[in-house]
Amino acid sequence: MKGICILGSTGSIGVSTLDVVSRHPDRYRVVALTANNNVDLLFEQCQAHSPDYAVLLDAKKSAEFRKRIKAAGLATEVLCGVTALEEVASLAEVDSVMAAIVGGAGLLPTLAAAKAGKSVLLANKEALVMSGALFMSEVARSGAELLPIDSEHNAIFQCMPANYRAGHAAPEVRRILLTASGGPFLHKELHELHNVTPDEACAHPNWVMGRKISVDSATMMNKGLEVIEACLLFNLPPEQLQVVVHPQSVIHSMVDYVDGTVLAQMGNPDMRIPIAHALAWPGRFDSGAEPLNLFAVRQLNFQAPDFKRFPNLRLAYQAVGAGGSMPAVLNAANEVAVASFLDKRVRFTSIPDIIEHCMQNIPLRAAESIEAVLEADLESRVMAQAYIAKRHCH
Ligand code: NAD
Ligand code: MG
Repeated sequence: MKGICILGSTGSIGVSTLDVVSRHPDRYRVVALTANNNVDLLFEQCQAHSPDYAVLLDAKKSAEFRKRIKAAGLATEVLCGVTALEEVASLAEVDSVMAAIVGGAGLLPTLAAAKAGKSVLLANKEALVMSGALFMSEVARSGAELLPIDSEHNAIFQCMPANYRAGHAAPEVRRILLTASGGPFLHKELHELHNVTPDEACAHPNWVMGRKISVDSATMMNKGLEVIEACLLFNLPPEQLQVVVHPQSVIHSMVDYVDGTVLAQMGNPDMRIPIAHALAWPGRFDSGAEPLNLFAVRQLNFQAPDFKRFPNLRLAYQAVGAGGSMPAVLNAANEVAVASFLDKRVRFTSIPDIIEHCMQNIPLRAAESIEAVLEADLESRVMAQAYIAKRHCH
């Protein structure tokens, strides 16, 4: 019986994780759940899964939540704040940590799980993009097991040589083929992108996800972040990574070996598949996902990525090439730009301008300490906000 802590249990990945966990009560016990705003869902989750701990960020919300938990006769202890997130991610009774907070907010608790040598189920790609080599060296030092949840990285992990561990080199691999759906605007007229709304950007053709990653999929920054994530997880330079646009999202990525063999992992676009893979690893168990029906899929198509339509993809390659603090700068500027787009303060087409402005104006630094990473992150957030305020980006 393993103990699990779910960071970001009320989000899209968090909810799917609890769905899979509840199918295997003999294998997993929920030790801790954490949330930001959705207290009603967190309460329902506490009723259903009786965690030892529940964490909310806000002090007032957590005080109210504690009363509600008590009144319902539940034994869950309610904690509050970022340090509590780090605490629950490092508890002795926790074996696996699902890192499913969105954005840079997830960095410190995810890093705490890695430092504590947990089995880290990594959905929170922004945390890895920001802290890069620093994160990977903590994983190596503590002996933590790093299992990718991002569907592409989970697919690659499954196609890697037997007994492969994240972060290790695999010389028999020639390249990785990272598939991308292309998002909702793959075929939209370029001049129409200027006027797209947040709801249009969030209407992904194949996946239902949180709003931030949905916008990232529409700009293809999601694939850009995934390129950086893949270089780190699989210890490869960006030259050995090819983005392949595959609109059906049936092949979740491929590994091309030196002998010419190409292994692909396929399945329905349902995040419970990679989640169940990582939870059961190195075994397998039921995820609840429908079996793949290839007769309904009928066709698999592939095309090269269009860097003109998706300038964010170019910026991400630039950031990984520059190294150091640049991926953290790219990620932070993107988070600010996307939040502003979702608030209808900037246009969809301004998102890459905001990111490029920060990348060009913040000096490149080394990123070998967490302080340096957090400083680059903050500097980029402040610069992106100032740029938006001045230029309005309309
Ligand atoms: P979401 O917006 O649905 O959920 C985010 C979760 O994080 C929520 O539980 C929320 O309470 C919590 N959270 C938000 N801000 C926080 C803060 N400041 N402090 C603490 N907690 C906070 O997001 P999601 O779609 O579930 O994505 C989560 C992560 O997984 C992201 O990094 C995303 O890139 C990655 N991911 C998601 C999918 C998917 O299918 N949804 C696929 C691949 C990777
Ligand atoms: Mg993905």
